[in-house]
Amino acid sequence: MTNELEATKGYIKKASKILGLNERIEKMMITPYRVFRAEVSIELDNGNVRTFSAYRVQHNKSLGPMKGGLRFHPEVDLDEVESLASLMTWKTALCHLPFGGAKGGICCDPKELSTNELERLSKAFTERMKEIIGPQIDIPAPDVNTNAQIMAWIMSEYSKYYGFTPSVVTGKPVFLHGSEGREEATGLGVVIIAKELLELHNESISGSSFVIQGFGNVGYFAAEHLYSRKGTVLAVSDESGGTFNKMGLDIPELKKYSLKNGNVSGFPGGTDISNHDLLHIPCDVLIPAALGGVFDEQKAKDVQCRYIVEGANGPSSPAADEIFHSRNILVAPDILANAGGVTVSYFEWVQNIQQFSWDREKILQQEELYLTRAFERVHKVSKSKNCLMREAAFMIGLERVAKAQLTLGL
Ligand code: NAD
Repeated sequence: MTNELEATKGYIKKASKILGLNERIEKMMITPYRVFRAEVSIELDNGNVRTFSAYRVQHNKSLGPMKGGLRFHPEVDLDEVESLASLMTWKTALCHLPFGGAKGGICCDPKELSTNELERLSKAFTERMKEIIGPQIDIPAPDVNTNAQIMAWIMSEYSKYYGFTPSVVTGKPVFLHGSEGREEATGLGVVIIAKELLELHNESISGSSFVIQGFGNVGYFAAEHLYSRKGTVLAVSDESGGTFNKMGLDIPELKKYSLKNGNVSGFPGGTDISNHDLLHIPCDVLIPAALGGVFDEQKAKDVQCRYIVEGANGPSSPAADEIFHSRNILVAPDILANAGGVTVSYFEWVQNIQQFSWDREKILQQEELYLTRAFERVHKVSKSKNCLMREAAFMIGLERVAKAQLTLGL
């Protein structure tokens, strides 16, 4: 079992113990509902055939259809997908969304594939999993290295078998039944949670400094919303390395540069910095927004921030959490901090079912409402139980799911 899956199971066990759930229920909360694996073969542009391992783990469906992203990455494996699927169950429950949790992934390096090959791979996987996904069963969404285009291909393939069904997937292009505000939703959610955390301590975004690891969907939109609220974004990074400016980076200029050059390194408005050094920059808020497993015990000792807002899923190990706690570094956990994406995915699903579009203002307003309420719930429990925000968030999610499961019958 990987460290991340072990950590997720550990959090469930801990929350279950505090809540006094019996062993039978605890086991149900840990065990996924269904694990799907396919070996997907596609023809490459050069005529060769290549096979990719693909997974969909559906973790729990007691609160509604299952929901979760689809990741394309060379390190995707079944343990990682199971851990991420479980996190989705607690995230949707915590935010009072009518969904269960799921996650999927294909073990591939999308940088090695052409657009046509990516289309064939996305559609071939959809064909394989078409019986286990659907608007009332399981609704995929974008995650690492997947985007609106890939969601459109999934919708297209699924609709071939079941008729026009935009609600099978969220995160679609806005002009193709997607939702206003969905693309930026996770990054914006990170900023909403950062704002709540700072305001709780009589601080504000405009007076604070931020460092962001990752400049993809989550990292970029978090940086943009911080910049537009006059936060000082000292440094950001991607796979190639990072860029740092002690006066604050010009995020719109950096975006233009990274679109043109494919990465942030070499940005003339900053100094290059390694991904390792980026995590040690003194700042108020550190935002991991790349992959999981970033903070081990040593890194947790080295970071120089006062708050961590987890844009990425699973960035901190349990040992790191303890060190953060002992150093008085407050952590807004992933299942709260990056829940903006699934929240607006919920709005997209509702709009697709209603066949009616909401405007951007309504969506952003509703996202803020859902997230601030989730933040308040977590804060209240963490105060009353004198526990970490992560423990409180798991307890709230677990209590709701266990209650639903018991009410429905085992
Ligand atoms: P993405 O593919 O759009 O971007 C990932 C970014 O991380 C890229 O800039 C990439 O270069 C960078 N990166 C990869 N490895 C790195 C490394 N070792 N060091 C520094 N940077 C590195 O992915 P995303 O959608 O932004 O997802 C990022 C994280 O947020 C993931 O953990 C994902 O599960 C989580 N998340 C995403 C969403 C969403 O709506 N997209 C929702 C919730 C959580």
